[in-house]
Amino acid sequence: MLKANFHTHTTLCDGKDTPEDIVVKAIDLGFRQIGFSGHMDYGCHMVLMEYLTEVDRLRKKYEGIIDILAGIELDNMYNPECAKYAEYTIGSTHFLDIRSEQPLAIDLTKEQFVSICHRYFSDDYISMSRAYYELVGKSYDRMHCDIVGHFDLIVRFNDELNCIDETSRKYYMPALEAMENLCKKDVVFELNCGAYNRGRKRELYPNTFLLKHLNEFGGRIIINSDAHQKELLSEGFDFAVKKAIECGFKYVNILKHDGNGKVVFQEELLSSVQ
Ligand SMILES: [Zn+2]
Ligand SMILES: [Zn+2]
Repeated sequence: MLKANFHTHTTLCDGKDTPEDIVVKAIDLGFRQIGFSGHMDYGCHMVLMEYLTEVDRLRKKYEGIIDILAGIELDNMYNPECAKYAEYTIGSTHFLDIRSEQPLAIDLTKEQFVSICHRYFSDDYISMSRAYYELVGKSYDRMHCDIVGHFDLIVRFNDELNCIDETSRKYYMPALEAMENLCKKDVVFELNCGAYNRGRKRELYPNTFLLKHLNEFGGRIIINSDAHQKELLSEGFDFAVKKAIECGFKYVNILKHDGNGKVVFQEELLSSVQ
């Protein structure tokens, strides 16, 4: 099994467990690395220095037992300045570029999702998803992120709402365009188990169709659980590894500190973590 996760939330943002509880659980699971990725967005953001200090304390305390990394999950619409303090950045798109009085995340509740589409896109879900992918396509330019988080989050409520036909060209062409552009920037795409863990028809973000294209574009991947509680730290990993192999990928990336304390990607054979 995969022995690392790099998309982890704690009580310092919207997670249920403290960073130390997460570290203890990760050691329990035999993890070699654990990467924290607290939210930095308009809906939820941390006191960055407090967060980094705590991760640093844990890194020293558990040195030699587990490699602890201080990342952030930066939102596409948030001030990218904070990324320079993190060891790695997951660039995610939870908000659209709309002039709302208050921040309106697309993944918070289905009622909010529907109301954003009604108010800003005249109930046209295809034009809403196009706006989403236009913004996602700029992830690297805006955030200089290392990883693109949950690429097709726009379909978060699609099982319940069935408002977007994911097999229609109108939906997937803007998605593929964004994906191809991001592949040229050499960012790593996350296979995010959040969708699978919340019961979305046994799919990940990105869905199987997009994943197959990602492989054709030469995209690189990392597998993350997007855990908000310690019990879900490795949830969905076996499924994600199987899915990645099925979509043609040979390697999965992990992040680790090199000998000089710098965080680097390293490729591992998917067949070795099966
Ligand atoms: Zn997210
Ligand atoms: Zn997250």
